Amino acid sequence: MSRIEENLRTVKARVEQACEKSGRAAGDVKLIAVSKTKPVSMLREAYDLGCRDFGENKVQELVEKYEQLPKDIRWHMIGHLQRNKVKYIVDKVCMIHSVDSLRLAEEISREAVKHNVTVSVLVEVNVAGEESKFGVTAQETLPLVEQIAKLPNIVVKGLMTIAPYVENPSENRLYFEKLKQIYVDIIQKNIDNVSMEELSMGMTGDYEVAVEEGATYIRVGTGIFGERHYLTV
Ligand SMILES: *Cc1c(COP(=O)(O)O)cnc(C)c1O
Repeated sequence: MSRIEENLRTVKARVEQACEKSGRAAGDVKLIAVSKTKPVSMLREAYDLGCRDFGENKVQELVEKYEQLPKDIRWHMIGHLQRNKVKYIVDKVCMIHSVDSLRLAEEISREAVKHNVTVSVLVEVNVAGEESKFGVTAQETLPLVEQIAKLPNIVVKGLMTIAPYVENPSENRLYFEKLKQIYVDIIQKNIDNVSMEELSMGMTGDYEVAVEEGATYIRVGTGIFGERHYLTV
C-alpha cells in the first residue's frame, strides 16, 4: 500500500471514530485533500484512490492543476484571495472558503454574472482573533453574510475558520464550538439566499476535534500528502 493510500485510510478511520463518538453520521463529513505545493502526480494518485475534493490556496497553482486533472474534481479555494484574481477561478471552483470582505464578495458576484455561474462561498471567521490571520471577527460575520446575500450569483453556504496552531488539539475545541454557535445563530435568522449547510474547520492537527464539534468539511494536507517543502529564495 502506498503512503497516500495508507494515510487516507488512517484519516477516514479517525473521522469515523470521531463521528461515532459524537453521534454523527460519517457521511456528513467531507474530506478535502489539501494539495498545495504537491505535484500533479500525487493528486492523480489521490484521485485514483477516490478523492474528488481538492483544496488549493493559490490561484495560479489551482488553475494549472485544474487543467491537467479530470473535470469531475471539486476544487476548493481555501487561501486568501485577491480581487484581481477572482476572474481566473470563478468558473472552476466548487467553493471559495475564504471570503472575508464585502469587496471580495462583490468581485466574485460580478465575475460570476459575467461567466453565467453561481458561486458558493463560505465566510472566513477569525474566531481566535489572531493578528496574523485573515477572516472577519465573530461580530462582523452576520452583517457580512446579510450583505453578501443581496448580491447576484453568489450564495453563502456556511462558515470557515483556521484555528490556531496548538500542541494539544483539544485547545481548539472552544474555537470550533464558537464557529458552530455563530453558524446556528445565522441559521435562525432565516436570511434569503443564505443556506448555511457547511462548517469548514479542522486540519491535520485537529480534525477529529473539529468533527466532534460539527465540521462538515475538514481540510487535510500533511495528513494525506506528507510534509510540505517550500522553496526558499
Ligand atoms: C494548508 C492548509 C490546510 C491544510 O493544512 P495541514 O495542516 O497540512 O492539514 C488547511 N486549511 C488551509 C486554509 C490551509 O491553508
